[in-house]
Amino acid sequence: MEKTIDENVQGTTLANETKKANKRNLFIESYGCAMNFADSEIVASILAKEGFNTTQILEEADLVLVNTCSIRDKAEQTIRKRLTEYNKVKKTRPHLKVGVLGCMAERLKDKLLDEEKIVDMVVGPDAYKDLPNLIKEVDSGRDAVNVILSKDETYGDIAPVRLNTNGVTAFVSITRGCDNMCTFCVVPFTRGRERSRDPQSVLSEVNELWQTGFKEITLLGQNVDSYLWYGGGLKKNFDSASEMQKAMATNFSKLLEMVALAHPKMRIRFSTSNPQDMTLDVIETMAKHKNICNHIHLPVQSGSNRILKEMNRLHTIEKYFELIENIRQILPDCAISQDIITGFPTETEEDHAATLKALEYVKYDFGYMYAYSERPGTLAGRKMEDDVPELIKKRRLSEIIALQREHCQFRTEKHLGKIQEVLIEGTSKKSENEWMGRNSQSTVVVFPKENYKVGDFVNVKINDCTSATLKGTAVEYSVNN
Ligand code: SAM
Repeated sequence: MEKTIDENVQGTTLANETKKANKRNLFIESYGCAMNFADSEIVASILAKEGFNTTQILEEADLVLVNTCSIRDKAEQTIRKRLTEYNKVKKTRPHLKVGVLGCMAERLKDKLLDEEKIVDMVVGPDAYKDLPNLIKEVDSGRDAVNVILSKDETYGDIAPVRLNTNGVTAFVSITRGCDNMCTFCVVPFTRGRERSRDPQSVLSEVNELWQTGFKEITLLGQNVDSYLWYGGGLKKNFDSASEMQKAMATNFSKLLEMVALAHPKMRIRFSTSNPQDMTLDVIETMAKHKNICNHIHLPVQSGSNRILKEMNRLHTIEKYFELIENIRQILPDCAISQDIITGFPTETEEDHAATLKALEYVKYDFGYMYAYSERPGTLAGRKMEDDVPELIKKRRLSEIIALQREHCQFRTEKHLGKIQEVLIEGTSKKSENEWMGRNSQSTVVVFPKENYKVGDFVNVKINDCTSATLKGTAVEYSVNN
């Protein structure tokens, strides 16, 4: 989870321990990026204090909340289908209330209440602390909506309850919102302007995770490299901060170092990096601290400079390659993954060929590839015609996916014969007798269980691979155990 849409977890229902005193049942389902899953843990934490236990059985719910994604039209359509399912349950449970959280709530606002009448409550990503009041409103028979975006809300003061956790890996949000204004992207409109979380609150959350047995955290943000704490406030207002605030400011590489030093045996990951904001000091910090994992998710979106410009990605492909070269030089073992959008307005066969060339140049370890989906309200949605026919988008996408698959195979084969540290996350999906974990590069590794257990760091000899999975045998506990 990376921040990126992981198809395996979409629609996951989340549940935590039940409290006897809590009398109402909350069914909370999450879609979209890792930030949404992390936000659902904040929501569950707020509602645990309001008398709600979580349930995974829809028919037992008193309140259904769906944390939504607007990144592509398909995501919204999936959620609309789910909303009709929840409404069917209302026939047998008339007191059941349904609320929409997250990006779709922010994008469609009271349209979901007034025109479509499919929900009782609409709550944007910065309004979760208002949930107790909003629930009182719906309890008394009124619709409730709060989609106000905030300048400083980071939920830094809320300890998320870990939902459906493996007890080993967890997300820790460090920024909210995004200022990049990529022309295809709805995020700045649904999650607001970029703000960073107090490093001390990040550290306390990490400390608590460590104390409760977690072994790996992923620092999350739409654009983590842009993290900047100068006492609170929006990133865009940093220029008008006092000299003192500027001198004391914490940027992403400092935060990364603070977290890495706090728990040298805890694995640290982060996501997502934007090429225009990623600086050398971040790569150097990764090289300095063994517990920062060797993986950078570095969306490229397109290999064509003309399309990158139309997308308002503020770098050229040459600058991107320069960054790749720096990563390869400073961190030779670092995995690099991508996001690509194909069929952006005006994309020609020549632009598409440039994307294939970029793939060939980097040979990414893995990637997330999408056909362009026009989002209302974005700059591209307003100013550019979605003029690449669906069939062409699909054909280009399948060519990109096929090439990426070859590179996945090429990269996984590079691990063969090596002994790598794996953190065990759980049982392999394919075999009860095998553990599943990840190496530092974030590649999935499966191996026979023997006497090891979930949460152990184990050195595994890699014997075999597919394009997505490494297979091995345990050699011994690693020094981090
Ligand atoms: N903030 C990150 C960045 O811009 O590098 C990622 C943001 S987004 C949650 C994850 C990915 O969704 C993007 O990197 C992009 O590839 C894809 N995406 C965003 N908007 C899209 C759209 N309108 N159509 C298709 N894919 C889109």
